[in-house]
Amino acid sequence: MTNEQSRRLALKALSALKRKYGTPVARVTRPPLEELLVGILTSAMSERKAHAALDALAAGFVDWNEVRISDVNEIAGVLGDIEEALHLARCVRYVLQRVYDIHNEMSLGFLQDKSSREAVRLVAQIERFPESAIARATLLAMEHESIPLTPGLVSVCRRLGLIEDANDHRLDKHLPRQKLYELHWLATRHAMTVCLAEEPKCEMCVLRTDCRAGRAKGPVSRSTGGAGRAAKAGKTSR
Ligand code: SF4
Repeated sequence: MTNEQSRRLALKALSALKRKYGTPVARVTRPPLEELLVGILTSAMSERKAHAALDALAAGFVDWNEVRISDVNEIAGVLGDIEEALHLARCVRYVLQRVYDIHNEMSLGFLQDKSSREAVRLVAQIERFPESAIARATLLAMEHESIPLTPGLVSVCRRLGLIEDANDHRLDKHLPRQKLYELHWLATRHAMTVCLAEEPKCEMCVLRTDCRAGRAKGPVSRSTGGAGRAAKAGKTSR
């Protein structure tokens, strides 16, 4: 595939995923570490509520270091009465601990001049980590030009034929930073709902006609188009 063909495929996949899931919104106004935390929270609540929850955390503790050493139940209590509060609290605390272990400071400044691979390593061991939180911190808050190749993104993009493996950074050359973030958010969401690691649901995938792995499964059935239309009708907006 030529560079131009790859670029077009990336843009086409991005459009199809936006039609299905809506355009991701990220109101980035905070330091990178806080944007990483907001990114974690937006996996379970709206952008507005995530900012409000982070404000509540900031008000409820002396600083991020105190959050780091606090009990997860205490952190979850500040996040409010939501189903995923305990999981989000664990993610927040684990991230803060990882940052402290690596940097000995509550800041992502150590990633400023590092490759996106270092950012992926920072969160790699965190169970059920919402992958696009790290893309939010690096691409949007730190203005990195390189997309973090996290597992869900790599899985979807490999199947599509956009990259070959977790060291392939060709997407960086095809899309500007904002679109890299959108692709990251949408592809990782697709990885959680349709393009599942073990058994992708190709029969209901809006990317199937353009997907290398999907096409290898045989002709697209009429139900694929139906799934696409149904998904469009019921898409979420954030
Ligand atoms: S067609 Fe299948 S393999 Fe390709 S992106 Fe869709 S679900 Fe994943």
